[in-house]
Amino acid sequence: MTDAVQDYPCLVAGERLTTGSATPVLDPYTQHVIGEAAEGDRGAVDAAVAAAAAAQEEWARTPLATRRRVLDRAADILDEQRDELIDLAIADTGARRPVAAELQVGAPISRLRAWARQADDLLGWTAPGKNGLGGRVARAPVGVVGCISPSNFPMHSISGKVAPALFAGNTVVMKPAPQDPLLVSALAEALNAALAAENAPAGAVNLVLGTGPETGAALAEHPGVKAISFTGSTAVGTAIYRAGAESMKRLLLELGGKGALIVRYDADLDAVITAVTRTWTIQAGQVCLTPARILADRRVHDDLLARLRTVLAGLVHGDPRDAATTVGPLVSADQRDRVTALVDSARREGATVETASGVPPHGWFHPATLVTGCQPEQIVMQEEVFGPVLCVMPTSDDDEAVAAANSTRYGLTDYVYSRNLHDAEAVAARLATAQVAINTVQRRPDFPFGGNKASGLGRSGGTYALDSYTDLQAVVTAENS
Ligand code: NAD
Repeated sequence: MTDAVQDYPCLVAGERLTTGSATPVLDPYTQHVIGEAAEGDRGAVDAAVAAAAAAQEEWARTPLATRRRVLDRAADILDEQRDELIDLAIADTGARRPVAAELQVGAPISRLRAWARQADDLLGWTAPGKNGLGGRVARAPVGVVGCISPSNFPMHSISGKVAPALFAGNTVVMKPAPQDPLLVSALAEALNAALAAENAPAGAVNLVLGTGPETGAALAEHPGVKAISFTGSTAVGTAIYRAGAESMKRLLLELGGKGALIVRYDADLDAVITAVTRTWTIQAGQVCLTPARILADRRVHDDLLARLRTVLAGLVHGDPRDAATTVGPLVSADQRDRVTALVDSARREGATVETASGVPPHGWFHPATLVTGCQPEQIVMQEEVFGPVLCVMPTSDDDEAVAAANSTRYGLTDYVYSRNLHDAEAVAARLATAQVAINTVQRRPDFPFGGNKASGLGRSGGTYALDSYTDLQAVVTAENS
């Protein structure tokens, strides 16, 4: 248990905003209170948006070199706190230490630094003359960007929104998920300190905290907010899409997924097992792009299943601070109950459920679970579980695998394992997802990233996110005028 419970306020133009009440934030493993987060209501959102709007022109006029230095300084500040932040990430999100170090803390610092080094000409370029006309194209900031993040990788997600938005001259209001807002508070503090050090306008970065859906909804509806960058569930993304229509908001929506991993008859099963061992229980399975459905050719299905059972038997549920632990807790009791309900639906719909043993007596655990004998139409095969639950279905050929993979409303990331690259490419081309990975579960950070169908709108990755945080202006000039 932490000695003293710190309070985490809403931050408006670098100042703590006084709000009526606060809500305890709990460690998903110990279930001890690790902080008290302010309850920002609609008034807090109004104040944050007003501060962001007031600062926007000045921030957009601030030289790009200074805007870059703000991002770099914030990265330095977080880097100096790295060890404490890793401990905070474990307590806040329930991440195991290596995941906390690499993805919860290390990756966001790298993201800030990467945007601090992006080229000037991303924001405007001159076109060669054509038919007596010259001209240029400029990317103008849209204004105030509302950045709403999910519970699984809070600082990772929101840093990927805030960094390009600020780079492009927008100001931001951040709204993290209520289960684990503490890392995002640390990011807001670091950015505020960096703004102050560079004499940049304090209102460029604001933070609103709040447990209910009202806080995010107030941001999504606010006429002063010109764009929403949201990562979270498809249900909430749909509400944001609707809420943004009235004020024609620019939207970047990174939503749910139900990834399929197609195991062809000629796949390297060792490689499949390595991949699945990594993805099955990372962040307790709360990963949007996890390969949650294994579609295995009948010729290798039984062999693969036997190996998956061995992996299941070897998993260790426990304290995320303990190096031996391979499965940590889910982020909240609600999330655990949701996973339980989906696994129950699989039993009801005739699938076979095998669960790991050795779950600790406290902490919001759902045991790692293998669901076999699956059919595409089962709820557990259609709905995102967001927990350590792997569904396996036998397939007869590529056609059946592709049809099953494409049968959900989602379109995020699928995977193909095959020793025949040509055939794997042909399967990949038929998949309705925004990303396909062949014989790997790694991503390329310079590639576009987003979702098709109900998995979202727009793209981040590389510098693609700028499309969501800027409006293009085309200026045509008569060359002889
Ligand atoms: P969630 O949708 O429940 O919450 C996300 C955020 O939305 C939180 O900050 C929440 O407070 C806020 N919110 C809730 N109601 C709102 C409303 N009406 N208007 C505006 N904001 C509102 O999601 P979660 O449980 O925190 O995260 C899990 C989801 O995120 C999963 O579906 C997962 O797939 C998705 N996710 C997607 C990606 C991706 O890149 N596509 C990455 C990570 C997570």
